[in-house]
Amino acid sequence: MESKAPILLEVKNLKKYFPIQKGFFRRVVGQVRAVDGVNFFVREGETLGLVGESGCGKTTTGRCILRAYEPTAGEVWFRKNGEMVNIFQVPHKDMKPFRREMQIIFQDPFSSLNPRMTVMDIVGEPLRIHGIAKGGELKATVRELLEAVGLKAQHMNRYPYAFSGGQRQRIGVARALALRPKLIVCDEPVSALDVSIQAQTLNLLEDLQAEFGLTYLFIAHDLSVVEHISDRVTVMYLGNVVELAAAEDLYTDPLHPYTEALLSAVPRTDPDHVPQRIILPGDVPSPAHPPPGCKFHPRCRYARDICESEAPLWRDLGHDHWVACHLADELDLIGIDYD
Ligand code: SF4
Repeated sequence: MESKAPILLEVKNLKKYFPIQKGFFRRVVGQVRAVDGVNFFVREGETLGLVGESGCGKTTTGRCILRAYEPTAGEVWFRKNGEMVNIFQVPHKDMKPFRREMQIIFQDPFSSLNPRMTVMDIVGEPLRIHGIAKGGELKATVRELLEAVGLKAQHMNRYPYAFSGGQRQRIGVARALALRPKLIVCDEPVSALDVSIQAQTLNLLEDLQAEFGLTYLFIAHDLSVVEHISDRVTVMYLGNVVELAAAEDLYTDPLHPYTEALLSAVPRTDPDHVPQRIILPGDVPSPAHPPPGCKFHPRCRYARDICESEAPLWRDLGHDHWVACHLADELDLIGIDYD
């Protein structure tokens, strides 16, 4: 369903290059182009899925949005008090109100919680740092947060080791919710969990979104995880966004050959609609030495001469279905049933 809610977050031509240093004097001999010109926006209350293989730049994009990394170039605009603000122009000392509204849920619930802190301290920490609550009020708020994520008040005095992976991720979610943020960057929040727990965690995130009016940027490494939680989905390859569309359009009618390959790996239960798995040749090239032209061309089964020399433009082929492929108008790619 098309949303007309205001834009909460807009990423414009974002680039993040990491220097490659060598020798005693740490001379810079090259650049890893982790994020190489990324554009997208997220509307209030929406979930945008951000999908791609390891090393495609999706986590670095999330970190730049939260300003954990300073970008090499580009802009990140965030709606604050009704006005869009480029957060990279905000002095670091003035970032606190923005940080309060932009939180993260980490991938690994085992390493992201301090093992020496109780659940009370972990979930209450952001409230203390931002001077929002202390004493009895802090305790009452932590209790409410734990209940909101399906944990119990008596869990407050325990340490992370006493919990399962799924419960630890719930603690991480409670911590992210503590400041009542508008945006949560969910950085592969279910990929370290057992399959049986993944669906429960996704359902919890959906329920919390409805209850607290949250907006999610949901990072995942395959399209099956984000299928049901996303309103729109964008696919990244080697530092670039290659396709972006409403979830149903992207799954049923992909326009980029890389998306088609990712879709062919999504498990389906209907034996009449199982797409043939497309195995991409070779590995993802190094972001330190990306191929010229379309970066996907060495692995693309549709590549033509132009693909080796010219980078495709990022363009809208109608209905807000964006793609970067020279042949997007003429290829008839295979999607999957969207249910
Ligand atoms: Fe394949 Fe060419 Fe399209 Fe790149 S531009 S995805 S190489 S067809």
